[in-house]
Amino acid sequence: MTEPVLALTRELVARASVTPEDAGCQAMLAQRLSAAGFVCEDMPFGAVKNLWATRGAADGPTLCLAGHTDVVPTGPESAWTSPPFEPTERDGHLFGRGAADMKPGLAAMVIAAERFVAEHPQHNGRLAFLLTSDEEGPAEHGTRAVVEALRERGEAIDYCVVGECSSVEQLGDRMMIGRRGSIGAQLTVHGKQGHVAYPHLADNPVHRVLAALDELARKQWDAGNTDFPQTSFQITNFNAGTGASNVIPGDAVIDFNLRYSTELTGDLIREQVTATLDKHKLNYALDWWHSGEPFLTPPGALRAAARASIGEVTGLQPDPSTAGGTSDGRFIATLGTEVVEIGPINATIHQVDECVRITDLPRLANIYQGVITRLLA
Ligand SMILES: [Zn+2]
Repeated sequence: MTEPVLALTRELVARASVTPEDAGCQAMLAQRLSAAGFVCEDMPFGAVKNLWATRGAADGPTLCLAGHTDVVPTGPESAWTSPPFEPTERDGHLFGRGAADMKPGLAAMVIAAERFVAEHPQHNGRLAFLLTSDEEGPAEHGTRAVVEALRERGEAIDYCVVGECSSVEQLGDRMMIGRRGSIGAQLTVHGKQGHVAYPHLADNPVHRVLAALDELARKQWDAGNTDFPQTSFQITNFNAGTGASNVIPGDAVIDFNLRYSTELTGDLIREQVTATLDKHKLNYALDWWHSGEPFLTPPGALRAAARASIGEVTGLQPDPSTAGGTSDGRFIATLGTEVVEIGPINATIHQVDECVRITDLPRLANIYQGVITRLLA
């Protein structure tokens, strides 16, 4: 018989759930959760499927297990050693799109929940699941929208474990305790197009913006703090020019992004960028997008439970980290929730030949079950 977490991970990987498609993953998981006594509620927004499932009563703490059923596109399938939606085992690994990010997390969470409720049918508080099919895409109609709906209903979530790939070299060597904020903008600097031989009749927006960009790129935004590295400003795109070598461009268009610590807020960054551009007397427009404020889970019941469970299963003390990109944890944290992320090794996520170590799958379920037991038994 196939080991149960491997079997369920294989079933999920076989479903081609490229964002915002869910390809039946949530219905399959909801069926198992219903059988384990969960009340399952579909919460679709737009084309995005979301699932909110709870078991137990809100007279004690609510522990939510969260994750996404969607996966990133495969890229050219011919580049894969085996077809990305045919789960394939070789060299001790399971290969396929989503085989790490994050179908093992989902499978291990559901199996951990099934085993926990079988052992503790009258558990304390509530065990919940929040699943979305829009984590890898715009993330507008996924966890963000569900959290807003839960907030309106007055639902509390005390603790949340997100099953994203948090480990680096060994399962459990790292857990995420927060994430940096992310904000960016498209900056358009207006000048006046003209003949390169008659610069006095034109106004070169590239020349105008260089000093301002240099200042923003060199600026020390903060010094970071114990939990976060220092904030970084990065220019990601710079476009200007008609393609001709004898024309001064009319506009320069620059995209930039900041990954920022809890020393800053989105509003503070907006103010400082605007002040710098104004100081350089630019004629400009800014189009901002803000994907989320930073969040941090301080030491408390959840971190202690996660640490103890990871230690028990793996023998490792996880490094508490806030590195890397954003995750849906940022939306859940706005409910005042303690959030950690625990999952498999992240080395191959979003890559061709994405994979997970097969022996890590049952151990991951044991880690989750240990966290649930410590908080709700
Ligand atoms: Zn993910």
